[in-house]
Amino acid sequence: MSHEGIHAVPQNEAGKSEAERLPLPRIAVTPDKVRVLLTEGKGVEIDWLDGHKSAWSFAWLREACPCATCAGERKLDGRKPGQPKPAPTAVLPLYTPPPKPASAHAVGRYAIQFDWQDGHSGGIYSWDYLRRHCQCRECTFAAEETTGTPN
Ligand SMILES: [Zn+2]
Ligand SMILES: [Zn+2]
Repeated sequence: MSHEGIHAVPQNEAGKSEAERLPLPRIAVTPDKVRVLLTEGKGVEIDWLDGHKSAWSFAWLREACPCATCAGERKLDGRKPGQPKPAPTAVLPLYTPPPKPASAHAVGRYAIQFDWQDGHSGGIYSWDYLRRHCQCRECTFAAEETTGTPN
């Protein structure tokens, strides 16, 4: 009831995929600084040339692996990049340490690659991909506004 006024942005479901395909400005996909917080086991922080700052946890990055295998699995499950697999309910929860890469390295000038401790390393995370999946409040809020609530 007091919610009205929050959703001032017009819903535009159809425009979403189109907007995603639009190339981002170069300064929006060019990192000024990249910090891989390996020893802390935290994640990656990027300051972009356009002044925007992004951060992703390693857990998110592992579940957002852009390689064909992981992307295919997510598609089958209907998961978004970064969304973990639903935990099997029949099995007692085992403690699994949060994903962490053993190392990370740049791929050319356009991407970063991780060697995950689980042995996986196929995913190449382009700056464009990362920027489009910025996890900051501003960007996630904007994404929610256009996709609506997840089912
Ligand atoms: Zn993968
Ligand atoms: Zn952002």
